[in-house]
Amino acid sequence: MSEQVVLGLGANVGDRLETLAAAVHAIHDLDGVAVTDVSAVYETPPWPPADDPRSVSQEPYYNLALAAVTSLEPLALLDELQLLERAFGRDRSREVRWGPRTLDIDVLLFGTREIEQPRLQVPHPRIAERTFVLVPMFEILPGGELPDGRRLSRLLTALAPIEDIEMVVRLEDLPGRRFERPEGPSAPSASFTRPRFDTGEQP
Ligand code: AMP
Repeated sequence: MSEQVVLGLGANVGDRLETLAAAVHAIHDLDGVAVTDVSAVYETPPWPPADDPRSVSQEPYYNLALAAVTSLEPLALLDELQLLERAFGRDRSREVRWGPRTLDIDVLLFGTREIEQPRLQVPHPRIAERTFVLVPMFEILPGGELPDGRRLSRLLTALAPIEDIEMVVRLEDLPGRRFERPEGPSAPSASFTRPRFDTGEQP
């Protein structure tokens, strides 16, 4: 059985755009995973904000959200995503909390499941507080809601005014890339199954 997942990706070290573009392809290439929609890339300030005593001096992030269908169980998907983070040069043993990240992948939603495990909490516990998560997520799931019924639109407006978030580019608009978005409106609701993502491979 396949379930829809929503992932949040972030990068603030190295070539952030290249990292995100390559990571979307790598996720689509995982066995048992097919990416169905990808938001634009947004530039966002690091969290915690600079005036927070926990903040670490670091570059702004590029973030995107993607929707995918998967036949993997949640922890198996998390294992694959953490392997990808490592493949992109991430070394958790040297990281500081809330410090720079070559590639961070969060499982935001997994169908309508609510998961409370030491390694995995879904929906991601910080969705409602983080505009860098909600803005790209809302773009691909404008009618979406959390399993507890809270609508993304409500969560987003509760954080208004939203400042400092800038749309950078759509991956499908990058020269030399073939990320194709189908014509017409974006995903109409939290349940969609149409493939929307072209990996650019020749048939
Ligand atoms: P971070 O530094 O944000 O990448 O934190 C990653 C840690 O959060 C990992 O040890 C994961 O096991 C854990 N984690 C818990 N829930 C989630 C989730 N929904 N998505 C990704 N990582 C999660």
